[in-house]
Amino acid sequence: MDAFRDGPVARIDRRALALNLGVARARAAGSRVLAVVKADAYGHGALWAARAFAAADGLAVARTSEALVLRRAGIDRTILVLGGFSDREALAQIAAERLDAVVHAHQQVEMLRSRHEGAPVRVWVKVDTGMHRLGFPPAELPAVWNALAHLSSVAQPVHLMSHFARADEPDGTATARQIACFDEALAGLGASAPPPASLANSAAVLEAPAAHREWVRPGVMLYGIAPMVGGRAADHGLRPAMTLTAPLVAVKTIEAGSPVGYGGVWTAPARMRLGLAAIGYADGYPRHAPSGTPVLVGGRRAALAGRVSMDLIAIDLRGCPEARAGDPVTLWGDGLPVEEVAEAAGTIGYELVTRLGPRVERIVR
Ligand SMILES: *Cc1c(COP(=O)(O)O)cnc(C)c1O
Repeated sequence: MDAFRDGPVARIDRRALALNLGVARARAAGSRVLAVVKADAYGHGALWAARAFAAADGLAVARTSEALVLRRAGIDRTILVLGGFSDREALAQIAAERLDAVVHAHQQVEMLRSRHEGAPVRVWVKVDTGMHRLGFPPAELPAVWNALAHLSSVAQPVHLMSHFARADEPDGTATARQIACFDEALAGLGASAPPPASLANSAAVLEAPAAHREWVRPGVMLYGIAPMVGGRAADHGLRPAMTLTAPLVAVKTIEAGSPVGYGGVWTAPARMRLGLAAIGYADGYPRHAPSGTPVLVGGRRAALAGRVSMDLIAIDLRGCPEARAGDPVTLWGDGLPVEEVAEAAGTIGYELVTRLGPRVERIVR
């Protein structure tokens, strides 16, 4: 029997993680897969996720500190640090822990040039093909490439990567332009054998086969969340890996015209039943979710009523005559896509799952 719980629970479905990785593999069949487990595996728990992704060819994280947590737990596979390193100590740690690192700036090349001891580091040179975040402009790539190709501190071959700014847009042409820019930069290297390359995030794994190359880097899709604007995971055969629930702590009847919650921004249109569930913005439920945002009570859809508070939300139970105190309310996951909740709240599924607070209990099944 489950222990008594008076707050929210995020249930993580390991089989869904493995299944979603299978979808990514099938969609990019000729490519190797780096499963992105940054930000505690998008809120799902990095260690559990790393183990559920045993069939991936490697993992990727944003920061060295995240990679070290995985190494300390005995995870001995390829781990790419997407943010690279910004000082010599970080580089030494990357080398000592046999991590792969992104090189996106000239000072990193200089740090590698002045490193003369220790094992060579595998590096992924990031080309800025149009996002204008991290990366070298294509015109600077040949010089960087030639420098890195001759350093004893760098494992050969040097890998290449880039990242898309707008791959989540269903009919966008921006991704095609970024791919063309990358190919031009690649051709400009005049390499006898083209180096291994990685371009695709989840959206490009699903929608831009020309971007698949030697390695793909899916993140959000592995958690059963659709990357495309307006998309749904089920359209791609993906299954939500996180289901977030919270118990109803009170069910009551209020009179027509009663204002509910802070600011009284919602008033009962009729005498009606109202539920209070033990989750709020301090748990990561979005404070800006408006009245009408969907939740599930006993498998039926119900709607948020009034403002989200720190520890509680109020729910219009007019469609749920059976609901009783103690019943679980589903905020997102099985039966209620996080994409839909995110759209209602003016954000993206990525933000909702990565922002769960420390009061949310995680259970892995
Ligand atoms: C986060 C990230 C990814 C994964 O993106 P998704 O949209 O979650 O698939 C891939 N590459 C880089 C550089 C990233 O920062």
